[in-house]
Amino acid sequence: MIDTRATGDTCPECGTATVAPRGALLWCPACEWNLEAYDAERIGPFFGWRWLDRRIHGIGYRMTRRQFDRLRGRPLGSSGVGAAAIVTATASCLLFLGVVALAATGIWLLVAFSFPGPSLLLAVPLLALAIGLRPRFGRLDPDADVLRRDRAPELFTLVDEVAQAVGAPAPDVIAVNADFNAYAATVGIRRRVLCLGLPYWGSLVPQERVALLGHELGHFVNGDPRRMLLTQPAFTTLGSAADLLRPTPLTAPGLIEWMGAALGRIIQYPLSRLLFTLHVALVCVALRDSQRAEYLADEMSAKVAGTAAAKSLLDTALRVESMSLAVRRESRAGHGPQRWQAAVAESREASADELPPLRQLSGREEAPLFSSHPPTGLRHLMLEGVQRHDPAVVLTQQRSSRIDNELTKEYESARRVLAW
Ligand SMILES: [Zn+2]
Ligand SMILES: [Zn+2]
Repeated sequence: MIDTRATGDTCPECGTATVAPRGALLWCPACEWNLEAYDAERIGPFFGWRWLDRRIHGIGYRMTRRQFDRLRGRPLGSSGVGAAAIVTATASCLLFLGVVALAATGIWLLVAFSFPGPSLLLAVPLLALAIGLRPRFGRLDPDADVLRRDRAPELFTLVDEVAQAVGAPAPDVIAVNADFNAYAATVGIRRRVLCLGLPYWGSLVPQERVALLGHELGHFVNGDPRRMLLTQPAFTTLGSAADLLRPTPLTAPGLIEWMGAALGRIIQYPLSRLLFTLHVALVCVALRDSQRAEYLADEMSAKVAGTAAAKSLLDTALRVESMSLAVRRESRAGHGPQRWQAAVAESREASADELPPLRQLSGREEAPLFSSHPPTGLRHLMLEGVQRHDPAVVLTQQRSSRIDNELTKEYESARRVLAW
């Protein structure tokens, strides 16, 4: 495999000058020769063995590309349910039934035999295991500041408009925090939460904000397995079981106890490893389906905000470091969202030439086997491959500023967190 950091070379396949931005391994921007290379210095280790890491990177890269080729140019909604989704849902149902069976057997052992009796020795561990593996509901992030409609009516109205345009239910809770991020999640049984990190939201231009809302609300209807109650067991049950069965250090004092514990380890250790391997394999499959859902959320974002704004929003993922530096600098100087936007626009202008190679590079660096998101560059290309959309919801600068004014207090606390 070719891995070199020398620049100024030409591609051996097509003769185009190679590129190597930000000290990455070089590749050909025209035919993507050497783009697949594993760049250990920038990607970092998965397991720590170079040959294995290289192989895992290669598998992740090829799987990501294959999925992209399969989905490109198709209506994503219709090709929604693929093999990964079926495996994830089936495995989740089986795992849930398995936990129910453990609990039922434990209860049966308690009631069917005389109490107390030897059946307790089996019933108690079975019930403990079932409790340890029970499905858990997500909780609202305690650091998030929940907004009320009467405090931010303009923001709530915009969210309603975007939800209607993407065909998603409006969130039950809109919250803000001081992160450079935004997310949509379901907490409890069915409480839909939209959380906007104000440093991120505040530095976006109006139409990018619509694109962000379109993408996040799209997660309520895109069948993302990471956000559905039905598919939670696929992500957690086997991992928790492997954890619960992992042998603890041998500390039993007597010889008989020690032998008993050692015998337990002989069974526990391989079982725990087996469960962990199955867990990794299942999560890997489930995350493929999650990547499909991300492409679909991007498509919804483009439909509501227009393709140009959706693509511009995607580029923020490539500029996240320079954006957050600019926002932090302005926050220290005591400035709020207006100056954040100006500073971010300046840094975007300064790095405009860097974006095309960075999009391509994301295909190498954001394609690990365990990534929930497809590489930014491929998300870009996917939006180019589908029908172009004009904005369905237009956010004017005045209205965007009114939203910022509603959140003055929240912006000030986010600014203080950033400045600190
Ligand atoms: Zn080439
Ligand atoms: Zn997403």
